[in-house]
Amino acid sequence: MKHSYHCKICHKPGSIEIADDYCGNLANLLAGAVCDGCHDLIRRRARLEDYIGSRCMELARERLDGEERQKIQSGLEVALRKYAEVISQEFKKPKVDTDNAVQVLMESPAKYWLILRDYRDACSALVVH
Ligand SMILES: [Zn+2]
Repeated sequence: MKHSYHCKICHKPGSIEIADDYCGNLANLLAGAVCDGCHDLIRRRARLEDYIGSRCMELARERLDGEERQKIQSGLEVALRKYAEVISQEFKKPKVDTDNAVQVLMESPAKYWLILRDYRDACSALVVH
């Protein structure tokens, strides 16, 4: 039967069809439900995080010459600009400049996950007037 829910991210109301014989925790399932638009955003975000993570691991693991590092930096700049777009839509906040995040990633690539988290936190903490 159909169940109504509020998207976990944008809080828009929606409804989903759940089998009557579903034996999991229905309340948990509905509390975690997201609408199609937000689902797309999450997938785009995950793909970008995968890409950024794999480039950063290359930086952290391998000895690269200046040209190779430059290539990775250009890739990170493009990925971070797309990331800024996704994060600003997700949090409904203006985009946060990514130049600093790219620099920090280049300097401490092994900490990319923390750096991306700080970036998201900075964006979500923006106060919109
Ligand atoms: Zn949503």
